[in-house]
Amino acid sequence: MEYKRIVVKVGTSTVCHSGGTPNLRRIERLSMVLSDIKNSGADVVLVTSGAIGAGIHKAGWTKRPDSLPAKQAAAAIGQCELMSIYDRFFREYGSITAQILLTKDVLEESNARHNCMATFGELLAMHIIPIVNENDSVATEEIVYGDNDTLSAAVAELIGADLLILLSDIDGLYDADPSECPDARHLDTVTDLNAVRHLAKGSHSSQGTGGMVTKLRAADIAMNAHIPVVIANGRDPDILYDITDGKKIGTLFVPKESV
Ligand code: GLU
Repeated sequence: MEYKRIVVKVGTSTVCHSGGTPNLRRIERLSMVLSDIKNSGADVVLVTSGAIGAGIHKAGWTKRPDSLPAKQAAAAIGQCELMSIYDRFFREYGSITAQILLTKDVLEESNARHNCMATFGELLAMHIIPIVNENDSVATEEIVYGDNDTLSAAVAELIGADLLILLSDIDGLYDADPSECPDARHLDTVTDLNAVRHLAKGSHSSQGTGGMVTKLRAADIAMNAHIPVVIANGRDPDILYDITDGKKIGTLFVPKESV
């Protein structure tokens, strides 16, 4: 394993079924693989979406609400559901988890940032897997990241990760939307983000808030912090073994100085 500290972000489409119910098989596999990667000696941080999706389902709503208070209520309901599922599965594979909920102001204010960094440091030194989400039930417009892609890049930068993996429902970056254009070409490696920025326009995820635009924004933040990024399909969490073994999977974004 060439990596020492890895941040893995999973989107709602990876951890929830299309109706918002938790995808238990996938969450269990993810918990197993991440525990195994941790056991092999790397520090592992999981950034997970799915709180709002799980909350909507648990509250019995049939569709994603539009109003902020309703979304925040859904997040409050779903976050503890999500954590209890992760906690159960990770424990099964011998790992201890810890919940960290963040908002933008925390990572931008120097004191809070410093404290937060120390908390991550302490948890990782104890071989605990921090599970991070945005604090959706309190976040208002001024303090919100709004998508976990950006949040995961900010976390990777904060803790000095040496790899950020964004798992999604797409195999990486294409030169056209593969759902509309069968000839779309998959890009294995990106070294110049400016040259591919236009490719993200219009792509979106059906369940989460992110899409390729936010993934490229995350790649930008991470690359500026000299952290390589892989965008890959989270359908089968075993893909994390291949990525951390350095195999060519998904799209790898290489920071300039390592080209
Ligand atoms: N934090 C939100 C949730 O847990 C999702 C944000 C995103 O989709 O990136 O539901």
